[in-house]
Amino acid sequence: MPRKTEISRRLAARAAGMIPGGVNSPVRAFGSVECEPPFIVRGQGARIWDADGNEYLDYVGSWGPLIAGHAHPVVVKAITSAASNGTSFGASTPSEADLAEIIISAFPHIEKVRFVSSGTEATMSAIRLARAYTERKYIVKFSGCYHGHADALLVKAGSGVATLGIPGSAGVPEEFTQFTIALPFNDVDAVEQAFAKFKQQIAAVIVEPVVGNMGCVPPAPGYLRALREVTARENTLLIFDEVMTGFRLAFGGAQAVYGVTPDLTTMGKIIGGGLPVGGYGGPAGIMDMVAPLGPVYQAGTLSGNPLAMAAGIAVLRMLRDQQNEIYPRLEKLTAKLVQDVVLEASGAGVPLTANRVGSMFTWFFTSGPVTDWDSASQADAKSFAGFFRAMLDQSIYLPPSQFEAAFVSTAHTDADTRQTVAAARQAFATMHA
Ligand SMILES: *Cc1c(COP(=O)(O)O)cnc(C)c1O
Repeated sequence: MPRKTEISRRLAARAAGMIPGGVNSPVRAFGSVECEPPFIVRGQGARIWDADGNEYLDYVGSWGPLIAGHAHPVVVKAITSAASNGTSFGASTPSEADLAEIIISAFPHIEKVRFVSSGTEATMSAIRLARAYTERKYIVKFSGCYHGHADALLVKAGSGVATLGIPGSAGVPEEFTQFTIALPFNDVDAVEQAFAKFKQQIAAVIVEPVVGNMGCVPPAPGYLRALREVTARENTLLIFDEVMTGFRLAFGGAQAVYGVTPDLTTMGKIIGGGLPVGGYGGPAGIMDMVAPLGPVYQAGTLSGNPLAMAAGIAVLRMLRDQQNEIYPRLEKLTAKLVQDVVLEASGAGVPLTANRVGSMFTWFFTSGPVTDWDSASQADAKSFAGFFRAMLDQSIYLPPSQFEAAFVSTAHTDADTRQTVAAARQAFATMHA
């Protein structure tokens, strides 16, 4: 049964007249899946509803933040209660230290944390701090890793070899990215070569410890440990960008799962409970270089916003208090979902490689394996688009891109994942027809 799309279509046309592409973040335009985006009017638990009244089982979860599902009653109560006391003061409120305390308890290396309003601000500020602390200019990032849209981090990856300073966006002068070195993910030799070439000039290595932004790509065994060893040896700061993985893979993030401790951690998404928040933290000896204590300037009118703090505290307390039930259950539920869909694909003769860590995963339409951007980009985005549309028509809402991770929340049930597997079987059948 085709979905009703009339009202969403009208809303999209209206928005397109006033907002570039009709969207405030490009992936929402559904460009790569060649279909019109539903306009969402409501979410509850694992489900969302669009303006035409279609109901969907949601595996996007606002791109990661909603680990507790939509409109969780505890979170809604925390936000409304905070709002009734005023929405912003531009002055300190007690809730900021409450959220900081939970984050510090989750990440042993963090002694101090600064809150901002987005993941982009968090990584941008952490890079500035690392450059100030080390008094060096270069940074290393990895192809396919996304760290927000700050100029220096929007660097496209060259194939295979280290690529220096090629802007990944119009409007970013080469001069602004000339100190950004982009290397292939999961390749320790490439990192060693960069350090040999730029001796004592690399301020920081920034990495998504489990990549979510080229689709889900886990670190090879020993990779994160090798990054830790090289950066420690070279007096370079290691930054784990845990904006997606923090509180997603475990209460202590990817660093707890893999047992590797960075110098700085950037956060976002889940720590805001669905409201706009970012954060960066580390040892006091580094963090105290930030203004007003130190010379690294960073500020924000709405930073530490009381509504965002309240939502974050509500979600993180839930995760902390129930971590022994929540994370194992997410692991089990997601593992079965991902594996069952792979079995359906193989039954239908569709080449599919599944990557998964905890409750984040991607079905890549390739025979795989997918270990870095080069192998991820082998995936057949056209096949994915067909699969995506077939799933959407069966009320399953996946990320509208082959190169994004999907998420399972605590609101998802066994019945939900069974519904998803059945839809996938149907989708693979139509793709083959
Ligand atoms: C989402 C994301 C960001 C950017 O966060 P925004 O809040 O969208 O600015 C940065 N790094 C990673 C790893 C992310 O997943």
